[in-house]
Amino acid sequence: MKVLKFGGTSVGSVESILSVKKIVEAIDEPVIVVVSALGGITDQLLNMSALASKGDMAYQNEMDEIIARHLTLIKGVVPEIEQSNVIRHTTTILEELENILRGISLIKDLSQKTSDTIVSYGERLASYIISNVIKDARLYDSCCFIKTVKQFNKHIVDFELTNRLIQETFNPLPNVALVPGFISSGKENGEITNLGRGGSDYTASILAATLNASILEIWTDVDGFMTADPKVISSAYVIDRLSFIEAMELCNFGAKVIYPPTIYPVYHKNIPIRIRNTFNPDAPGTYISNEEHADEHKSVIKGISSIDDTCLVTVQGLGMVGVIGVNHRIFRTLAQNGISVFMVSQASSENNTTFAIKNENADLAVKALNKEFELERAQGEISDMVAEKDLATVAIVGESMKHTPGIAGKLFGTLGRAGISVIACAQGAAETNISFVIKREYLRKALNSIHDSFFLSEYKMLNLFLIGLGTVGGHLLEQIKQQQQKLMKQNGVKLNVVGIADIEKMLMRREGLDLNTCIQDLRKNGMDTSTALIKDEILKMNIFNSVFIDCTASEEIAGLYEALLNKNISIVAANKIAASSFHKNYASLKDTARKRGIKFLFETNVGAGLPIINTMNDLINSGDHILKLEAVLSGTLNFIFNTISEDIPLSRAIKMAVEARYAEPDPRIDLSGKDVIRKLVILAREAGCVVEQSDVKTNLFIPPSYFDGSIEDFWKHIPELDVEFEEKRKKLAANGKRLRFVASMNNGVCQLGPMEVDSHHPFYELEGSNNIIMITTERYHDYPMVIKGYGAGADVTAAGVFADIISIANIR
Ligand code: ADP
Ligand code: ASP
Ligand code: MG
Repeated sequence: MKVLKFGGTSVGSVESILSVKKIVEAIDEPVIVVVSALGGITDQLLNMSALASKGDMAYQNEMDEIIARHLTLIKGVVPEIEQSNVIRHTTTILEELENILRGISLIKDLSQKTSDTIVSYGERLASYIISNVIKDARLYDSCCFIKTVKQFNKHIVDFELTNRLIQETFNPLPNVALVPGFISSGKENGEITNLGRGGSDYTASILAATLNASILEIWTDVDGFMTADPKVISSAYVIDRLSFIEAMELCNFGAKVIYPPTIYPVYHKNIPIRIRNTFNPDAPGTYISNEEHADEHKSVIKGISSIDDTCLVTVQGLGMVGVIGVNHRIFRTLAQNGISVFMVSQASSENNTTFAIKNENADLAVKALNKEFELERAQGEISDMVAEKDLATVAIVGESMKHTPGIAGKLFGTLGRAGISVIACAQGAAETNISFVIKREYLRKALNSIHDSFFLSEYKMLNLFLIGLGTVGGHLLEQIKQQQQKLMKQNGVKLNVVGIADIEKMLMRREGLDLNTCIQDLRKNGMDTSTALIKDEILKMNIFNSVFIDCTASEEIAGLYEALLNKNISIVAANKIAASSFHKNYASLKDTARKRGIKFLFETNVGAGLPIINTMNDLINSGDHILKLEAVLSGTLNFIFNTISEDIPLSRAIKMAVEARYAEPDPRIDLSGKDVIRKLVILAREAGCVVEQSDVKTNLFIPPSYFDGSIEDFWKHIPELDVEFEEKRKKLAANGKRLRFVASMNNGVCQLGPMEVDSHHPFYELEGSNNIIMITTERYHDYPMVIKGYGAGADVTAAGVFADIISIANIR
């Protein structure tokens, strides 16, 4: 015979009850069917009791809902000829319930006994209705055979009596027995009690164990026991097999799919459990047993579970060291107060013991322990109890962790990279579980990071925030879209754009944006934005493995980097402002990134997509020393020098640079060398020099007076230089030379200005707006390394940013 338990979600609607009917009627051996209340009813019953006990008549609205829901259900699932009977009986039960509630609302008092009575109606109603749906089902009352006694203020099952009564009740066993889960009654007084929230699983397990069932099937709304709660981790997947120990550990730490006490009775009798999905009966589900099996999964951990309701209480004092019996007193006191402890950690110095309990027990625990250790506190041997609330506990579970080195290292490394600090941790010597406590706000991030690190070996996820949707940002989005699938398949990297923003709007979605429609979505549904809001939203999302991509030229946005790095968000900047700001700031950003094991990358700050900074870093990291840098770093200035000819004077060439969009609309930004100064400073710093922008010696080819007035003045006066310039050019051309605007760093001295080069010089042939850099090092001494190519352009810059992003994915 089998025992099948259907939870609230499986009996919540017409379709699901019809599915239950089909599943049960297809079984050709005796079966006990345990059912919960319709999904959500237990919560509603408790809520109504609370309202009624305050005299709040709003409970009536919920009552009406409950009545309507049950009656509608009957009409959908009970055969028509029996409907009126079933409705009549159900209405009687509902009236009883209403009467009790009315009484409570009048006397405004709610005892535990009455509350337990009220909450039992959920299962009573459900089991009655379903017994009229499944063919030949015989309805039982669990209160007649599940008996409880009170211990430490809780109702616990009296197994001796319960077992005997179950044996008697189910002898002989009908074909289909229908049993309400969860509810029970007191051994002494027969008053209605229950087995605790989620307790229907337990009812089913007790029945299965006592009657030696061949299997206990728990039917619910997911395909099985999963690697993590699918409501938090969308990529969680079903575990085929678990041992009883693993299942127990996972349930104890919050995997709601099975009520924790459920495992023990069947484990004791070696009866396997299968978790199955009422909505997908063909799925094999999860098989929980003691049977050995080859592990198909590579992962050493089987699952992750968590309890978001955690308070840590610490008992501490030097007076505890070496004293025998302190822990005994702590746990005795907690037991006497009916407080359950789910994790304990003690420092080997013995001067403190920390344990985890539910938040609701915190005040009582503190009070009771303060009293227990009153004397020691008065003598200063033990301090006042400390309770830290609003924490969460996470456990990773798997029997193969036993004797596998490095699991704890991987776990804590993962948390460290995510910027999550562990407040307490525990690992039993059995090595099947490592549990740790963190701040509650980090729970989601912790679960995601760990799941990603232990389970998703097919790909690594990187969550991207893209700020700035101009030409570079736009090209980048397009490139990510093109490459997304290929990166996932070939490189095992999943790029998930979780936020985009420009100066007007921002759009953030934890699950990732659809890159085909995100720009329209931003315009339509985006929030109004500001730098502060962008920061707040990103920090609030607190998402794991995230990268902030700055494709703006904004000083304010650059001002966010430090705060973001401090929350373990890597930065990829096309924006030059931060790296060229005061050296102190630059060094601090790099330092923060290094200490936190994340990245601050800005390859595209110099030479767009050309691999300049990375190359320099590779040289330095391999022990080389950069002695000298010479570079043409301004596409605009190079274009101007290349364009000036007999026919095109200086002023015209400048205008053409603006028209071709090489130069800024105000070309003075380029002509003043400001942009090149920034690039040179960044390069010199990456080569190891401590320099500021003000240290760069600048020799401009346009006199300072031209930069003073308005832009109109500039355009008016600039032709004054045409003649002189053309003469110079002609003279140079006659000598086989050209003019280049060169930035250089020589032994730490930075300067920039025009330079005459002859045809042997590598800078002589530099077409269009290209950039070139010559790096002289100890190794590349007589023949310096030369990197040359497009130094501007949205597509190559976006590609450079993209390369930085990929390099972050690769270090993980
Ligand atoms: P029922 O009403 O059938 O008793 P529950 O809501 O008590 O259902 O339990 C099923 C739910 O447990 C799932 O919907 C899922 O959200 C949650 N859950 C939490 N952790 C896990 C896990 N590791 N595997 C599967 N489900 C889980
Ligand atoms: N109906 C009860 C609850 O919601 C028991 C159960 O569902 O297992 O807690
Ligand atoms: Mg449940």
